[in-house]
Amino acid sequence: LLLLTGLLLASGSAGAQPSDAAGTEQRISTLLAQMTLAEKVGQLTQYSGRQLTGPASDRKTDLLNSIRSGLVGSMLNVTGVQATREVQAEALKSRLKIPLLFGLDVIHGYQTVFPIPLAEAASWDMAAIRQGAHVAAREAAAAGQHWTFAPMVDVARDPRWGRVMEGAGEDAYLGAQIARARVLGFQGERLGGTDAIMACAKHFAAYGAATAGRDYNAVDLSDQQLWETYLPPFKAAVDAGVATFMNSFNTLNGVPATGNKYLQRDILKGQWKYQGFVVSDWGSIGEMVPWGYARDPADAAQKAITAGSDMDMESDAYRNHLAQLVKDGKVETALVDDAVRRILRKKFELGLFDDPYKFSDLKREKQVLSDPQHRVAARQMAEKSLVLLKNQNNTLPLGKQHRTVALIGPLAKSRRDLDGSWALNADTTLITSFYDGLAKRVGAGTRLAYAKGCNVQGDSRAGFAAAVAAAQTADVVVLAVGETWEMSGEAKSRTDLHLPGVQEELFQALKATGKPVVVVIFGGRPLIFDAIAEQADAILYAWWPGAEGGPALANVLYGDYNPAGKLPMTFPRNAGQIPISYQQYNTGRPITKPGEIRYKSAYLDAPNTPRYAFGHGLSYTTFRYDNLQLSQPTLTADQSVRVQFRITNTGTRAGEEVAQLYLHDVVASVARPLKELKGFQKLALKPGESQTVTFTIDRATLSFYNQQLAWAAEPGDFRLFIGSASDDTRLEGKLTLVP
Ligand code: BGC
Repeated sequence: LLLLTGLLLASGSAGAQPSDAAGTEQRISTLLAQMTLAEKVGQLTQYSGRQLTGPASDRKTDLLNSIRSGLVGSMLNVTGVQATREVQAEALKSRLKIPLLFGLDVIHGYQTVFPIPLAEAASWDMAAIRQGAHVAAREAAAAGQHWTFAPMVDVARDPRWGRVMEGAGEDAYLGAQIARARVLGFQGERLGGTDAIMACAKHFAAYGAATAGRDYNAVDLSDQQLWETYLPPFKAAVDAGVATFMNSFNTLNGVPATGNKYLQRDILKGQWKYQGFVVSDWGSIGEMVPWGYARDPADAAQKAITAGSDMDMESDAYRNHLAQLVKDGKVETALVDDAVRRILRKKFELGLFDDPYKFSDLKREKQVLSDPQHRVAARQMAEKSLVLLKNQNNTLPLGKQHRTVALIGPLAKSRRDLDGSWALNADTTLITSFYDGLAKRVGAGTRLAYAKGCNVQGDSRAGFAAAVAAAQTADVVVLAVGETWEMSGEAKSRTDLHLPGVQEELFQALKATGKPVVVVIFGGRPLIFDAIAEQADAILYAWWPGAEGGPALANVLYGDYNPAGKLPMTFPRNAGQIPISYQQYNTGRPITKPGEIRYKSAYLDAPNTPRYAFGHGLSYTTFRYDNLQLSQPTLTADQSVRVQFRITNTGTRAGEEVAQLYLHDVVASVARPLKELKGFQKLALKPGESQTVTFTIDRATLSFYNQQLAWAAEPGDFRLFIGSASDDTRLEGKLTLVP
C-alpha cells in the first residue's frame, strides 16, 4: 500500500499536494483562465445519476453529452466503483478533463448500516460517533464516492418533524460536539485520505425549526435563537474543517435559506471566513419561485448565486440561466469565478486531479465492503445508542430464571425497519432481526415463543389471542413495537405521535396476563406511549438500531452490555407540549408549589414536565454523585474555575455514566433558560469504583448572545447543576462572575 501511495504521489507531479495551498490556488487560477463561461457554469451544476441507470432516454443522452462537454461538475446517486469509473471516464473526455465529484447521502453507513444519527447521539460517545462516520466513509470511498451529504446538524425541538431522526437532537452544545465528531470521522484530519470523503454540514440554516413540524415549511426565528441554538453546530463543523455546506428548503424570517445572503455570505463566508463551497438542497434554487421569492428560474438563479449558493443540485436554474445573467450584466463574473474556485479547490484537495478515480478499484471495493470489523463497529454503536427508559423492580436484565421468553409484536421479526430511513445503499440481507438476535442469545436452556400480535398500522386485533396465549406460557414478555422505517425521515411529518395502530392495546392485553412485560420501542423520533410508560415493567428505546440491532438488543436485554444511552431529545407527554426542550424558562409565573397552577404558566390538562427528559437514561447499576468542590467561588473574565466531584458505582455491575453539567445565569440582559448543558463526560466504572470528574468553567462557558447579540459573559451569579439527566441533577453549586 505504501508503495502504491508513493507511486500515486509521484505520478501526481502535475497536481498540487494538499498541503500546498498556495500552489493549489495558482493551479485553480490557471485552470479558471482557460475555462469558458459555459464550462464555469458546468462546475456549478450537479445532477442525479438515477437517470443514467434507466433505459435510453433523451434525458440520459443529454446528461451524458453534458458530462462529456464539461458542463457538469458533480453527480449524486451514482454508486459503486464500476458506475463511478464509467461516468468519470466520460468527464475525462471533456476539453479540460476536470474530474467529477461523486456525492451521496451516506447518512448512517454506506453498506453496513449503523443506528440512525439520533440514536448515535444518544450514546453521547464522541469517539464511537467519529468511528461510525469513519467506517461509513471508508466503505463509501472504496465504492467510488468522494462526498457525503452529512452530517445533518439541524437542532430540532419538534418531534412532529420526521427529520429529527437524521440529526443529533435538541441541544446546541451536544449538537456541536457531535457535528465535530462526525466531520472528523468522515473526512479524517485532512481531505485526500484513502479512507475519507468530504462531509457536508446541512441544512443551512434553521431547517429544524420548521413551523408546526411540517417539513419544508417557513421558519420564523429570533436572531437570539438562531445564534444561540441553531448555528453553533454549524460553526463547530466549520471549525472541524468541514469541506462543504448545504443550504436549505425553508425560509428564515421570510427569506429562503437558498437565497439568503445574511446566512451564506455575511455569516458563513464573511464572519466565519469559510473557504469551502455551498451546494443547494435538491431543487431548492428552483423552489424559490413557488415560495414567491423569485419571479422565474432565471430570477432564482440570480438570487441564489448572489446570496452565495455555489452549486445547483438538480434545479437546472444555473445551467439554463446563469451564463445569460452574466452576459446581461446581472451577475458579475467575479461571483461565478468565486463559486467555481471553491469547488475546484475541493477537487484539488481531494487529489482528484492526481487520480480522478480516487484509488477506487473493484478489488478494494469488495475487500473493504466485506470487512467484518465494520459489522462489529455497527453492533457496538447500536449497544451504546439504546436507552433504558424504565426498569421497575429490576425486571431487566433477563437471565436464566426466564425459562420461556415470549417475543411478541409487529417489529420482532422485521428486518428492513431496523435500518431506518436514509439507508440508500444498504445491503438489507445483512440485517439481523430482533428475533434472530435474541434466538441466538437465549441459549439452549430457554424457550423462545413468538407471536406477531398485530401490524404496526391498521386496527385488526385478530392476532391478540395468539399473542396472549404465547405470553401465558412465558416467564417474561418482550414486546417489540414502534414505527415502521417509512414513518420518520424526510417529508414524514406527523401530528399524532402515539404508537400507531393498536399496538398499545396489544400491550394492555399482554399486561393483563400478569406477566412482566418489557417493551422495546423502535422509531425515528420521540414517540408518545401512555399506557406503556405507566404500566410497562421495563422500556428500552431502540430507535432504528441498524443492521446489527438484533444482536445489540439481545446483548443489552441479557446484560452482556449494560445500557448507558441518554436521550438527546425530550420525550413529550402529548403533542400539545411541542415544541419542547429541557431549556425551560422560569417565566414571571413559575409554579412554586406542586400542583399549584392557578394563573401560573401551566397547562390545565397536563403537567409542564415531559414524559422523559433530555439526558435521561438508566443503567443496570446505580451511581452516586458527591464531593462537589469548586477551585474558587468567584472568577473574573480571564480566570477559570475547576469544578470537581466524585462519581461512585454503587451497584453490583460494571457500567457507564454520562455526567452532565448544566448552568443557569440567574440575572442577565436576556432572560436565560433554567438549565443549559455546558459539559458532559462519559465514564466507565466497575462496581464500587469511584472516579473524580473535572469540568473547567471559564468566560466562554458563561457566555451567551446578549441583548446586543454580542457573545459575552455578564457579571453576576450562576447556578451549577451536575447529575445524571436534566431532570435528575444530584449536585448544586454557585459561582459568581465578578467585573
Ligand atoms: C434532502 C437532502 C439530501 C438531498 C440529496 C434532499 O431532499 O433534503 O438532505 O442531501 O435531498 O439526496
